[in-house]
Amino acid sequence: MATNMADATHGIIDGKAMAAALRAEITLGVADLAHAGIKPGLAVVLVGEDPASQVYVRSKARQTVEVGMASFEHRLPADTAEADLLALVAALNADDAVDGILVQLPLPPQIDADKVLRAIDPAKDVDGFHPVNVGLIATGSGGIAPCTPFGAMMLVKATGRDLSGLDAVIVGRSNIVGKPMAQLLLQENCTVTIAHSRSRDLPAIVRRADIVVAAVGRPEMIAGDWIKPGAIVIDVGINRIATEDGKGKLVGDVAFADAREHAGAITPVPGGVGPMTIACLLNNTLLAARARRGARP
Ligand code: NDP
Repeated sequence: MATNMADATHGIIDGKAMAAALRAEITLGVADLAHAGIKPGLAVVLVGEDPASQVYVRSKARQTVEVGMASFEHRLPADTAEADLLALVAALNADDAVDGILVQLPLPPQIDADKVLRAIDPAKDVDGFHPVNVGLIATGSGGIAPCTPFGAMMLVKATGRDLSGLDAVIVGRSNIVGKPMAQLLLQENCTVTIAHSRSRDLPAIVRRADIVVAAVGRPEMIAGDWIKPGAIVIDVGINRIATEDGKGKLVGDVAFADAREHAGAITPVPGGVGPMTIACLLNNTLLAARARRGARP
């Protein structure tokens, strides 16, 4: 994978280009497995009609097929009973054609999402949410890393900077972004701080960061003048805001136009972390297929 992608684009880290490069690598990996008669398969389960989830699932299925993998889509009605979803997960666990299982979140209220995520075979848990994978990542013992933090980490590394000893501040402590991101930065020898809604004087915390990861879900909350000159800024947030023409637009958690004046490298929204998330899902599926079927990389 090419590094220094940020330098090539005047400080803007091009997640779209990085994701395309990763998908090209995955396509080669999938073609290699085809010689051994193996076709990796990704099963995506969608419960209900959530419009954003439908867009994500369509996009995942399309890209899965584009890299040469098999895509299995399971759409269940919003009133699906928890036991029925657990039965489907058990069937997918046992299905040899399925290497990765993704249950799209959020799930309807009658279903305990944690219970469903824990029912997925950890070897097929390509979202990296199963406690076994969380534990393996936390102890640096392998495991499947969650897609968004893993993709965000690749964007940090694309700057080509030596990360060892840098101060990294993550704003947001969710299980799917903030906490795993902290583990991955720690593995790169960063000094890591996780800030959240109870943190005191957030601007001061962010100002000392060489790396800022914003995963809050509040449009442009991180102001430009909070950014230390030269810092790497990774904006995970995806927020839709109203515009005068009524169409609305997507913005991140960082005030991009101001922040880019201070940052050494910064991801845009859209076109930063978002595209990397699906590419990393496909990468996890390829890795899971190799591991489960005993194929060498
Ligand atoms: P969560 O809502 O689960 O977590 C948000 C975090 O932000 C919480 O830890 C919360 O703190 C913290 N927070 C909220 N308000 C403040 C504040 N004023 N100051 C400091 N911290 C605050 O969100 P996610 O982690 O799931 O997602 C975060 C963002 O990333 C969202 O915009 C989401 O859409 C986006 N996202 C993007 C993905 C992608 O592919 N690019 C994938 C996943 C998410 P506390 O814990 O104290 O409540």
